[in-house]
Amino acid sequence: MKLRLRTMLSLQFALLVLITVFLISLVSGNMINRQFEEYVTKQQKSQADDLADSIESHYDPNHGGWNVDYVHGMGMYALKDGFVIRLYDAQKVMLWDAENHDMAFCHKMLNKIAEQMKEKRPELEGKFVNYQYNLNYHGEKIGFLEISYYTPYYMNEHDFQFVAALNRILGIVGGLSLIFAVVLGMLLARQITRPLSEVVRMTRRIAEGNYTTRLRTDRSTLELYELTDSVNRMAASLSEQETLRKQLTSDIEHELRTPVANISSYMEMMLEGVLEPTTERLQNCYNELKRLTTLIADLKHLKNEEASGVVSDKEKTGLLDLASVVLKSFETQLHENHIEWRLEGENVFVSADTGRLQQVIANLLSNAIKYTDAGGSIRISVTRQDAYGVLYVEDSGIGIPKDEQERIFERFYRTDKSRTRKTGGTGIGLSIAKAIVQAHQGTITCESEVGKGSRFIVRLPVDHEKS
Ligand code: ADP
Repeated sequence: MKLRLRTMLSLQFALLVLITVFLISLVSGNMINRQFEEYVTKQQKSQADDLADSIESHYDPNHGGWNVDYVHGMGMYALKDGFVIRLYDAQKVMLWDAENHDMAFCHKMLNKIAEQMKEKRPELEGKFVNYQYNLNYHGEKIGFLEISYYTPYYMNEHDFQFVAALNRILGIVGGLSLIFAVVLGMLLARQITRPLSEVVRMTRRIAEGNYTTRLRTDRSTLELYELTDSVNRMAASLSEQETLRKQLTSDIEHELRTPVANISSYMEMMLEGVLEPTTERLQNCYNELKRLTTLIADLKHLKNEEASGVVSDKEKTGLLDLASVVLKSFETQLHENHIEWRLEGENVFVSADTGRLQQVIANLLSNAIKYTDAGGSIRISVTRQDAYGVLYVEDSGIGIPKDEQERIFERFYRTDKSRTRKTGGTGIGLSIAKAIVQAHQGTITCESEVGKGSRFIVRLPVDHEKS
């Protein structure tokens, strides 16, 4: 069985407090009792000393020595407090004895004390002990006093009531702090577990495909803030992925529909004998099939580019060198299409994934060739502008209408004009180029005029460290 975190935290907190309160009560209760017993013991001793002093000070040789009446008064008074006194003169003749004086009362008092102490403090094994005090007058011995009282100490009813009250107060304080701590523990546990429960609820919702909800991030603890924040990010990224997935599926579906519809309608009509299967018609079908093949190849690219974070190891790369390498591989194609080309500018260094950046330049160059008629020209140039290396790919081709210049970077987007050119494009190349450039913290833009030509501008931050 799985315990709820909240229950577990509350239980652990309560147990901890219970043990703490118990230990504190035990130790402090013990200490208070011991302190009080020490106090009573000292008090008793000092009371006996005072008694002896007081009797000694009442000796007056001018008025017959001992004042037995006074001793009697003191003795009876002391008896009530548990002191039994006996006074002897210098010749050890007994002058006054509490026991002899009122034996019944005296025994009653002594028994009461012994019984009470045996009942309440049996572990003490206390008993009455005789203490002897020598009495002097101006340095001359005048007798001695025997005081017998219950040792190690004697507590009367009020004392016991006082100790019991102290213990009761201690118990009440312990109980109250226990209740307070349990309530506080439950509140604390709730405070910790509530955001966790919210996260659990939210992740469940995400698992069910609902990516729109977000958690509050105004948390007081760092860990809870980080947890809710990362769950929110995860939801946002999943939502983005989901949108991309939907977009991609509908784009692909849209792109596949046209060639497949074209091929099947041609085939159908040719099979039904409505159209003759001429070489031209078969060629048309073949062209559409080729477009499908290119599309499938591009889709593979797209999958790799978008899934793998696009850029891997970066290194110091000269933009002009890179453009020159790419141009070389297009030389034959440029010749065949009767297009002039030029490469110029300074070699600005950027930090780049060379393979990926070559892919961008190759894509721009291949587009420029595709959309430029024979006799046209292409110019690639590199310059430095502030902290950026800028690469231009210009052509004197068909151009792109103003309102479409942004959209050509969208996946599968192709201008109407380019569609009619039967170049076999799929509208994927520029979207990949844009993803690669952005992964280099750069930008890619386009300036163009229909009928005059286009200019693609790639801006990448220069490699400060190395250039
Ligand atoms: P593709 O060239 O395979 O169709 P791209 O993503 O490379 O795909 O380009 C998207 C669209 O942008 C092209 O279909 C075309 O309409 C337009 N385009 C790109 N480069 C040029 C260019 N140099 N001149 C004219 N149009 C261009």
